[in-house]
Amino acid sequence: MTVDNQSAQVSGSLVNGSLINGSSFAGNGEEWKVINPADSSVVATLKLATPADVSYAVDSARLAFAGWSRTVPAERSALLHALATRLEERAEEYVKVESAQTGKPYRLCREFDIPGSIDNVRYFAGLCRNLEGKASTEWVANLNSSVRREPLGVVGSIAPWNYPFQMAMWKILPAVAAGNTIVLKPAELTPLTALMLAQDCTEVGFPDGVVNVVTGSGPVAGEALVSHPDVAMVSFTGSTKVGRRVMELATMGIKRVHLELGGKAPFVVFADADLQAAAHGAVAGTLINSGQDCTAATRAYVHESLFDAFVTMVSELFEEISVGDPRLESTDIGPLVSMAQRDRVHGFVERARSLGAVVHVGGELIGDPSGAFYPPTLVTGAGQDSEIVQEEIFGPVLVVLPFGSVEEGLALANDTPYGLAASAWTRSVLISERAQREINAGTVWINDHIPIMSEMPHGGFAGSGFGKDMSTYSLEEYTRLKHVAVDITGDIKKEWHRTIFRDRHAAP
Ligand code: NAD
Repeated sequence: MTVDNQSAQVSGSLVNGSLINGSSFAGNGEEWKVINPADSSVVATLKLATPADVSYAVDSARLAFAGWSRTVPAERSALLHALATRLEERAEEYVKVESAQTGKPYRLCREFDIPGSIDNVRYFAGLCRNLEGKASTEWVANLNSSVRREPLGVVGSIAPWNYPFQMAMWKILPAVAAGNTIVLKPAELTPLTALMLAQDCTEVGFPDGVVNVVTGSGPVAGEALVSHPDVAMVSFTGSTKVGRRVMELATMGIKRVHLELGGKAPFVVFADADLQAAAHGAVAGTLINSGQDCTAATRAYVHESLFDAFVTMVSELFEEISVGDPRLESTDIGPLVSMAQRDRVHGFVERARSLGAVVHVGGELIGDPSGAFYPPTLVTGAGQDSEIVQEEIFGPVLVVLPFGSVEEGLALANDTPYGLAASAWTRSVLISERAQREINAGTVWINDHIPIMSEMPHGGFAGSGFGKDMSTYSLEEYTRLKHVAVDITGDIKKEWHRTIFRDRHAAP
């Protein structure tokens, strides 16, 4: 794959789909094309990984673990800082490739995906030198206890297509910062920036086999990775349906499991909210990444006194949004990731319409037919139990429903199988406190929706999975905790031996 800086085009030549043991690797499976969803052009052609290719990657990671797990944090930190510097230098190339494989606007890549991920690298470079734990002391007499935080071994990670670069980072960084080695399977729709990243890891000096990437299909390469006996931990981000399957396979091998799954974030606007702020927040929170964001606002519950004004305001703001060529500065949102995803999103809207829901804006296919474009769409009149309210759509669609009391607003927010993220809009301290406590979601924003930061944990509850990304909590998940207890007396006879010997060999 080459990036032509003059024309800002990414051209679709044959590339190797994997990077194993520090070297680019072709893969022995079927041929696969990475498609630009903005115009259906081929960005790259590659060969998918087979189970044997996955095994080769796991073997490389297993062999590399022996050395990597013995490096001291300062060494790992230095390599991560070197990686961050290299990514800063190549940021514009990453922007172009990320945009070409996903359809994301350059603006989003430049201002969010790429710099946010580089910040993650710097954060983990610092964090790995700062492991905390319980005090080492004699918790029982004459026995000094301490805890060791140790890496687990080979981590098998599987990532989705919606933020390919960022998701690769969320998988690779805590794993290698903690001293593990990794085999990452990116989504086959969008493997290119993960491959570039693995190449950059090699070039800044990560030892061969520490970071491996295999591009393959979920049922073939993904299942081979999750089931591999030498994989100690499975870290999966993707849909709840596939997460269930991944957990089932990992359970058979008694592996540590980390699951970041789907979301259906509620956006609750209470009667005292700042309506303008809520309307702007709803538009940005729904449309980020064309709605293909696991934390995107998808269900707005608006107090009945504000309902009509909110629908009008958000509809007007939706009308302003420019959907189009991701390379243009004037574009607000790009296409969806594929034609299949566009058709899936449209299917939700069409079925809701056929059941009597009202589509106030959007809801029709738009733009050049070779692109997977879908407009910002606002729907009212859907039932709380309908699929458009209950299921993850993953597109630029906001469903708005009214509520009466504070209790009802909070209950509706919790009324789906998911629990990833939510926001509450209010100027009342009391309602804010109640929302923080009562909403079942791993992130609750008050008067905002979407911002994430390297220092704070991201992860869901219930059908949205378990485990945390970013933050010190994620580093902990990629380690195991060992209790070490050391006798400090050298005595042959210990007091507690009385449980066996009674007084026959009593301590002096
Ligand atoms: P997906 O579940 O279809 O695929 C995710 C990954 O799993 C891909 O790499 C895919 O190849 C692989 N896969 C598919 N079948 C598999 C199998 N049988 N065994 C092993 N791996 C398999 O999800 P997607 O469509 O790529 O991504 C969108 C989903 O990801 C949404 O549900 C979204 O909410 C979720 N997501 C969650 C978070 C989070 O932090 N909770 C972040 C981003 C995306």
